[in-house]
Amino acid sequence: MEYDVVVIGGGLAGLQTSRLLAMRGLNVVCLDPYLIGEVIQLTGLFVQEAFEELPFPQDLFGSGLSRITVHAPAGNTLSVEHPHYRFYVADMPALLEWMAREAKHAGATILERHRLVELVPTSTGMELQVQYPGGDPFTVTSRFVLGADGPLSTVAACLGLPRYRRFLHGIEEHYQASDMGEGNIHWYFGRQLAPGYLAWVIPAPRGYQVGRAGLVRAGWSPARALDVFVEQVREQFELGELTFRRGGVIPCAGPRPVLVKQRAMLVGDAAGLVSPLTAGGIHFVLQHARRAAYLVGRYLETEDPRLFRRPLPPEVRRRMVMKRCVRRLYEWVSADWLLDLGMKVVPAVLRTRLVKRAFYGSKKGRNRLWMPVPEEE
Ligand SMILES: Cc1cc2nc3c(=O)[nH]c(=O)nc-3n(C[C@H](O)[C@H](O)[C@H](O)COP(=O)(O)OP(=O)(O)OC[C@H]3O[C@@H](n4cnc5c(N)ncnc54)[C@H](O)[C@@H]3O)c2cc1C
Repeated sequence: MEYDVVVIGGGLAGLQTSRLLAMRGLNVVCLDPYLIGEVIQLTGLFVQEAFEELPFPQDLFGSGLSRITVHAPAGNTLSVEHPHYRFYVADMPALLEWMAREAKHAGATILERHRLVELVPTSTGMELQVQYPGGDPFTVTSRFVLGADGPLSTVAACLGLPRYRRFLHGIEEHYQASDMGEGNIHWYFGRQLAPGYLAWVIPAPRGYQVGRAGLVRAGWSPARALDVFVEQVREQFELGELTFRRGGVIPCAGPRPVLVKQRAMLVGDAAGLVSPLTAGGIHFVLQHARRAAYLVGRYLETEDPRLFRRPLPPEVRRRMVMKRCVRRLYEWVSADWLLDLGMKVVPAVLRTRLVKRAFYGSKKGRNRLWMPVPEEE
């Protein structure tokens, strides 16, 4: 079987690039070892800019959330609200199924239950060994490969790129609840609860998603930390029956230094495209998918390797590196007593501005950075 592009991974990055490449008239196949939407790792909290990338149907989301309450380790809280900005929690299995339908509609082929096991560059493209459960590996050839296979990317490993080493480990449960209160997003900080990151309670369709993510250390179990946290908040949020549990790793050291090698490019989490500060990846992943699809499409038309000189806008890489520095600083100074002290002594106005900036971002010029490449604007 010979394709123009083989996309490895049927997550947000893989489905979006498959759709965009197929729309350019390319012969595209997207592989995933599972059924689309069968294995979900993420919370699915969408920032509102994500809707600029793809017109997701609104019925795949809960109602918009605009208020965030931050809880310091000692229990004191700070709430911020934005008059116009909204976060939305997605029904992730349904959303990925919808994206797969859109990709197929554009002409892409989706091969579920197919896993990439080996990838070898050839003079004209790439040769892939692909396997489905119980079957022998078979060969697929393609002019280009997009590695959208998540943080533990097989494509990156096959290309001999250094292993990505710094991850947050996230775990989350969904509980049914009848009373959803005012619909606040709650973030909880604390070194025992979530070293290096935070825990959350988020109103989701038909209940609450309760989770935590942090750096894993010897003798500290993320699952046990979540159990303790759930007991801590169960009464307050009147958590009912457990509906599902999910989790995974989040790259938190910013983009990999090398994203393109031979005729392959990494995209989304495989490329490390997650904010080191907020650990949000959805919006970056969708933006990066658009850029990757554009670059690969043009490359296959022109064979001009100069297109890959900047697989990421330099400004985006620079901001990610800056956020990584802030993260390192936070990991270093985030003793509970310091966080508590910060919440007490930093004036409320400044705290509010900082929290707003961290979670709602500064609007100016962000999307402009992601326009495909300057000469095409
Ligand atoms: C617990 C948790 C909560 C999160 N919550 C949020 C959130 O609320 N908001 C937000 O913005 N971001 C969140 N993130 C980050 C977000 O998940 C990612 O940035 C985004 O989903 C990454 O999409 P992706 O398509 O790049 O990778 P993934 O979603 O990881 O998709 C990779 C796909 O590749 C497939 N694959 C892997 N290996 C192979 C192989 N060998 N062959 C073929 N296919 C393969 C996998 O099956 C998978 O379907 C969260 C992450 C975690 C772990």
